[in-house]
Amino acid sequence: MDAKRVLEIFKEITRIPRESGHEEPITQWLLDWAKQHGLEAKRDEIGNVCICRPAAPGKENVPTLVLQAHQDMVCEKLAGSKHDFLKDPIEYVIEDGWMIAKETTLGADDGIGIAACLALLESEDKTGPLECIFTISEETGMDGAEAMKPGFFSGKTLINLDSEDEGQMFIGCAGGVTTEATYSFASEPVGAREILKLTISGGRGGHSGDDINKGRANTVMLLLRFLYSQLGSGLRLVCLDGGGKHNAIARESSAIVAVDGATALKAAFSEFGSIIADEYHTTDPGLVFNTSAAEAEEAMDADSTCRIVASLYACPHGVLAMSQDIKDFVETSTNLAAVHTDLSGGKVLVCTSQRSSSKAACRAAAAKVEAALALGGANVVHLSEYPGWNPNVNSHILKVCVESYKKCFGVEPLVLAIHAGLECGLFLEKFPDLDMISFGPTLRGVHAPGEKLELASLDKFVRHLEDVVVNFK
Ligand SMILES: [Zn+2]
Repeated sequence: MDAKRVLEIFKEITRIPRESGHEEPITQWLLDWAKQHGLEAKRDEIGNVCICRPAAPGKENVPTLVLQAHQDMVCEKLAGSKHDFLKDPIEYVIEDGWMIAKETTLGADDGIGIAACLALLESEDKTGPLECIFTISEETGMDGAEAMKPGFFSGKTLINLDSEDEGQMFIGCAGGVTTEATYSFASEPVGAREILKLTISGGRGGHSGDDINKGRANTVMLLLRFLYSQLGSGLRLVCLDGGGKHNAIARESSAIVAVDGATALKAAFSEFGSIIADEYHTTDPGLVFNTSAAEAEEAMDADSTCRIVASLYACPHGVLAMSQDIKDFVETSTNLAAVHTDLSGGKVLVCTSQRSSSKAACRAAAAKVEAALALGGANVVHLSEYPGWNPNVNSHILKVCVESYKKCFGVEPLVLAIHAGLECGLFLEKFPDLDMISFGPTLRGVHAPGEKLELASLDKFVRHLEDVVVNFK
């Protein structure tokens, strides 16, 4: 097995359509590939594929090693590109040591993982028994890993090949739960009050997993901080809106309010804006605070305004705990993701999401959010819980991979966990004794046009993987 061969196979894979949800061509191609190579293969109902290779003579007593990658790719292209992901091969160039798809995603996430498995399966490397698992629809909800039945594979050690930084060994990921809340409110005529719209925009935002520890502004939370400070002035909320996706930090928010003195409120909001601009001058230099005239005939009554503003402001946001085992790894966090007012229905809808590598800590975080929102009278539900992978610093495969890396390159790899989801969390739920690790070559710009693979990192990744697999016992 060598990097040249892995790249050749990957180039073949770039010709096969494999958008999430439309994996049938690659699924069939994998099954055909196994047949041509005389290897046993199976697919399950949903489309996951397992290709097995028996032990080499003398290696019969080596434990089975499971290698895993996902079949699908994110299909994104530049505006104006005519590329059809359902039939066209991916176009790429090799430039300055990188393989790059300029108009589209490249699909090295995770086609390079598949290619590495196949290169190993066809190689003359003397290995113990191998089971290579290829899941479907990882990018759109991990449906393949979720639907996989216990017994689909038998090995107790799994190497996931879906990481993006060569030299980094991942040994944990976050699970999560979405917590949603609905407040009902009572309205009354605004009377003599003036109506103002307050807007905060230009937040940096980011991913609620990867970026939650960067101290970035949550514009919904900032607006709540201001509104809470004004409750004593008799301010009434008309509506509050902000944020969007459950997994993004809210970049923009606005509130329409009814007040007795618009001039004083404008001045207070402008002063608040300069305080916040100072607090967030490094993380969010683009924040903009704006007031404008608005119209409304009714506003929430005093009780509704107070309980909604106060309980949302009490709702936690950000990092709740750091890992005690892995330096700089966020163990538990929560994101106040979105607030939306349904004026005709008389409701305020709230979306939050909690993440943790520990299931118990994740549930505790969700309960804390529930407590804050329920204190304000909200009806709270928890949805779409998915499991995490709690790091085991004493893992056997971790020791094997670290020793091998030192032997190959003379330096220690970084050992890390990520505060986002990996399929490993789902595997662990079904195969509780699994010992796992995740690593891969260096990719940049994944999930967007311009995705690229660093070829020098591919050499190192392949050399390391081969050494681990050949010497595993
Ligand atoms: Zn991936």
